[in-house]
Amino acid sequence: MAVQRGLLLIADIAGYTRFMEFHRTDLAHAQDVVARLLEAMIDATSALDLVEVEGDAAFMYRPLPGGTGPELVESALGQSVAMHGAFHALQQKIACLNNCPCQGCAQVGNLKVKFVAHLGDVAPQRVKRLTRLAGFDVIFVHRMLKNSVPVREYLLMSEPLWERADERLRTGARPLEEELEGVGRARTWYLDLAALAAPLPPRPEVTWLARQRETLGVVLRALPYALGLRKLGGLRNLTPA
Ligand SMILES: [Zn+2]
Repeated sequence: MAVQRGLLLIADIAGYTRFMEFHRTDLAHAQDVVARLLEAMIDATSALDLVEVEGDAAFMYRPLPGGTGPELVESALGQSVAMHGAFHALQQKIACLNNCPCQGCAQVGNLKVKFVAHLGDVAPQRVKRLTRLAGFDVIFVHRMLKNSVPVREYLLMSEPLWERADERLRTGARPLEEELEGVGRARTWYLDLAALAAPLPPRPEVTWLARQRETLGVVLRALPYALGLRKLGGLRNLTPA
């Protein structure tokens, strides 16, 4: 199939402590919380298509959304800020209303989201009704997740993408040289999303009913997993190392 050039972006959730003893229920609830946060972020982006949910990350792609110049960088940044906002709005709601004492629910406030973005060539492959992406740049953007960015929530951009940024977008970005596993040295730039985020919406009203609805929702959706009737998906960052 023909090779396409496009924007590749991954939103990745992390923050459950790695040293906790997870029980089956904790993991099932953590999985439910992460799935909802990913869904809220995917819904918040109009310019990118979901390729795949990969554990606690969403891999997204769009053939050159917004053009090939500074608009492309602006699009990557705008989509990341929108998804970051949607993540924290839902996180706040769950943290306010969820009464469940399990670690999967109790730690929701610790979760963070980071974004990595790259401009690259991909070969779309249709497998049944799904479109998968193949190529070196797909590997490249995934390797960018393992980096040395010193802040917790950021957008990390590759050189081919960053080259398109104009002066205005360059303000506030910091360069980093990364050794990407199996890829080699790569120049990257990151923006701290905490500095760019819009204020959170007002906290939800905490009523008995709202709390029941939120808490029971998690408990019921996660029940088949907690009972072992359905298999838990692999949550890379959630499972203790
Ligand atoms: Zn729970």
